[in-house]
Amino acid sequence: MKIKFKKKLFFFEFPKSVFNSKRKFNYKKGWIVKLNSNKSNNDGFGEITPLFNEHITLCEKQLNMIPENINKDILIKKIYNFHPCIQSGINSALGEIEGIIKYKEKYKFNEIHQSAILVDSSSILEKLKELKKIHKSKPKIFTIKWKVATKENKVEENILEEILNQNESHIKLRIDANGSWSRRRAKRWAEILSNNKNLDWLEQPLGIDDIEGLNELNNKIPVALDESLLKYPQLINSWHGWQIRRPSQEKNPLKLLEELNNKNSLKSISSSFETGVGQRFLFHLSYLQLLGSTPKVPGLALKQMPNNFLFKNDPKIIWNNL
Ligand SMILES: [Mg+2]
Repeated sequence: MKIKFKKKLFFFEFPKSVFNSKRKFNYKKGWIVKLNSNKSNNDGFGEITPLFNEHITLCEKQLNMIPENINKDILIKKIYNFHPCIQSGINSALGEIEGIIKYKEKYKFNEIHQSAILVDSSSILEKLKELKKIHKSKPKIFTIKWKVATKENKVEENILEEILNQNESHIKLRIDANGSWSRRRAKRWAEILSNNKNLDWLEQPLGIDDIEGLNELNNKIPVALDESLLKYPQLINSWHGWQIRRPSQEKNPLKLLEELNNKNSLKSISSSFETGVGQRFLFHLSYLQLLGSTPKVPGLALKQMPNNFLFKNDPKIIWNNL
């Protein structure tokens, strides 16, 4: 199959910096790719969106090695050792051309209870107050994703205590340490939270490489791997707990699509701050996740994104305006 390969650079700034215990995100840079096959004359869109800006130079160099006219098999061979995000964007665009991904016209994830609400230790208590009010008028289950290790641990334990005292059953909690806790600290939080029905999971509580510690902890309390899966993608096959899956950072997100269609459990779909092109795929996968045996709202970070043409749900609009 002959492919016409085109790419356009995008750039946006976050309305407000997004940060976790390890990093601060002020802007995002990447590419939208459009692939067209002369066979079906279909366009397939994909997004190349490295989570970390220091990977941009490498991606740019590798993308420039792809000619505009290329055979599909040669393209697949060529990108085999390229950055995972390049493989992800191209594989998802190919998946669209070949009808493996069948996008819907619309997905419903815009309401506050349909995606996890991202907060840090400075904003969590205020957010909970606000949700309590909304819940009174419109009872819903909300999911909070709390970025911990963003303040002193003492302060965060006090916040946790306050949350547990409020004992709100309509609030689900995901606690994301982004790999910043020691085993000792994680054990302590696990003890405080043991038997808590409102906890979805502790997300990447320990360092990326401490798989043994993460396994031990997962026997006591639900643990979701995030950064460890990015560094060691083969853990996708062996980790028995929750997995935070970021389609735009995986080499072949069509495998994730297949997993969600076949053995769909303990996988949670997460944003890496994509534009509307990547979001469309996130929405599709999140929609499938919700049909599985362990439905959980995705982490789409929609409230953190700017409001402009880059975030439209029609990739053609984004492409034509770039
Ligand atoms: Mg995470």
